[in-house]
Amino acid sequence: PAVDPDAAAIAERMLPVRHRVLVLSGKGGVGKSTVSSQLAWMLSRGGFDADPNAGDDAAGGDDDMDLDPDPEADAWDVGLVDIDITGPSAPRLLGAGAERLQRTASGLSPVFVSDTLFAVSVGFMLERSDDAVIWRGPKKNGLIKQFLRDVDYQPTDVLLVDTPPGTSDEHISIVQLLKQANEITAQHPEAAATHAGSKFGAVIVTTPQEVALADVRRELNFCRRVGLPVLGIIENMAGFVCPGCSINTDIFPATTGGARSLAQDFDVPFLGSIPIDPRVAKACDEGRPIADACPTSPATIAMRRIANKL
Ligand code: ADP
Repeated sequence: PAVDPDAAAIAERMLPVRHRVLVLSGKGGVGKSTVSSQLAWMLSRGGFDADPNAGDDAAGGDDDMDLDPDPEADAWDVGLVDIDITGPSAPRLLGAGAERLQRTASGLSPVFVSDTLFAVSVGFMLERSDDAVIWRGPKKNGLIKQFLRDVDYQPTDVLLVDTPPGTSDEHISIVQLLKQANEITAQHPEAAATHAGSKFGAVIVTTPQEVALADVRRELNFCRRVGLPVLGIIENMAGFVCPGCSINTDIFPATTGGARSLAQDFDVPFLGSIPIDPRVAKACDEGRPIADACPTSPATIAMRRIANKL
């Protein structure tokens, strides 16, 4: 097929980006943005566990074993691109709601949340943070393309792209655009050094509810159809950890474990289960990293392990 000029332009822009991870979910409200932003933070700060499987439930390990971050682990340069433009949440989740994207001679310069973490979001362009974004269809896709094409990406280890929920046509066209851009980059002569062993693919976030799992199945079929590699499935809101006694209660007992078996059915990695923890919701509302706000929460530990597997 003919090369989409947008894909070529995006490929050129994204040359300095090594790994590209698209975060997908079949439906809204499953925690896709929460997971994207917290993973971005964790990866950008390094110091996560050396052994991703230490203390894993399946391995029968002890959760207390891997609380200590590994200070030797490298911090990555991380970019979070929030293209969930009808409900941009990255600015708030990163505690950067007041920041704005700057236009420079070479394009849009991202907002640096820290030395090693930058973010791009339509939320950084709105007048007020509670303004609604009501663009639809072609205009919406146009804006997303513009974002991807105009951002001045710095050398970055990993770019997490927080995509809009669902498998609508517009969603599909953006995913295909990124896939094509990645293919062009992979063949670029300058990419040989930076892109050796680089990862590209989707991480799918779901909850254990039956409706959400049905959407994941759709999402997995979609990935297969368009040839988008699936890096793994993350189950969020899997049980509730009582802050008082630390006992985990399944909220959706009938379907708990459903995401893991879906991953098996489709032969894709299962990256882990994150429980519901009110401290996580609070930290996110305050725009703080959960690694600071509640470092010992089982939800934080679960996300650390997932960060380690990326
Ligand atoms: P999505 O991006 O999929 O629409 P969000 O990331 O906005 O979903 O999450 C929806 C809500 O659920 C937010 O209020 C968020 O703080 C909360 N939330 C997400 N994951 C967790 C969790 N593991 N524990 C507690 N609250 C969570």
